Amino acid sequence: MTTAEARGALTIAGSDPSGGAGIQADLKTFAAHGCYGASVITSLTAQNTTGVQGVHAVPPDFVVQQLRMVFDDIDIKAIKTGMLYDAVIAAEVAKVLKERQAAGKLAPVVCDPVCVSTSGHTLLKPDALDVLVSQVFPLTTLITPNKPETELLLKTPNSEVKIESLADMYTAAVELSKKTSTAVLVKGGHVVSSLKNLEEITQKHSNVEVVKQNLYDENMEILLVGRDPKELNPEIVVDLLYQPDTQSAVVYARPRIESTSTHGTGCTLSAAIASGLAQGLSLKDAVAQGALYTHFGIATAQPIGKGYGPLNHLH
Ligand code: PLP
Repeated sequence: MTTAEARGALTIAGSDPSGGAGIQADLKTFAAHGCYGASVITSLTAQNTTGVQGVHAVPPDFVVQQLRMVFDDIDIKAIKTGMLYDAVIAAEVAKVLKERQAAGKLAPVVCDPVCVSTSGHTLLKPDALDVLVSQVFPLTTLITPNKPETELLLKTPNSEVKIESLADMYTAAVELSKKTSTAVLVKGGHVVSSLKNLEEITQKHSNVEVVKQNLYDENMEILLVGRDPKELNPEIVVDLLYQPDTQSAVVYARPRIESTSTHGTGCTLSAAIASGLAQGLSLKDAVAQGALYTHFGIATAQPIGKGYGPLNHLH
């Protein structure tokens, strides 16, 4: 089957009227991957590239009604969850997904545990975190926390976790995977890494594979489509995938791009991974494709708005 609906992808997330994050970023990402995008809206935000001004939650039973209308009609091959906003909405979403699971009809779920916007606005109320962990995570194929979200998810009343390096990301991913029984992609956009760190991690752990993306050509020159290589900072960005079934990790490494076009990066990545799963890729390949899509989205973005603008989704 090659039609778009054969690759139906659903996002369950919040709306960003300025078009760079949330539902809007997800639908653009699905379309760019040739997927048919469906969207269930959990919350409306009033925001633009300079920040979030307000949030208006959709009534939980109306979120459920939207979910049922989509599932009753559209062949959904992969699901992505983003901003679930509060405990009741998160629990209602989990309830419907659980019903699908019980009926043997649950497509792979990628959960982006969106907590706070880059500008510091709450996108998940504190009481929703427990629901996310106890009710949503058990239904997921992959969770995609960034550094602060990983630290929050591993925090206990007696201990705090700090992630400063690729080595810390590995330890955190293994621990979080144990705690949640799901595959974990710890995103390293907030972590400073180098090529040396890649060598160190593979020497220390035989179960870690490195996938270098767009790093060097055959002459060991840093490559980057759409940018003058001289503009590039040789610092690298790493994301680390840990899969509990194989007890192995993959580190995806690529050049860091200095850019203000980063609004909705996490939304875009998780939607791109869901697109890959809808296309039938393995988790490892879906993450590779998603990471590269996000990377080029930042690399080729034209500035939009007065603040942190969106990625380019059409490439
Ligand atoms: N707004 C919505 C609706 C989102 O879902 C998200 C992230 O998932 C954001 C904003 C955050 O965007 P930013 O990349 O600016 O932190």
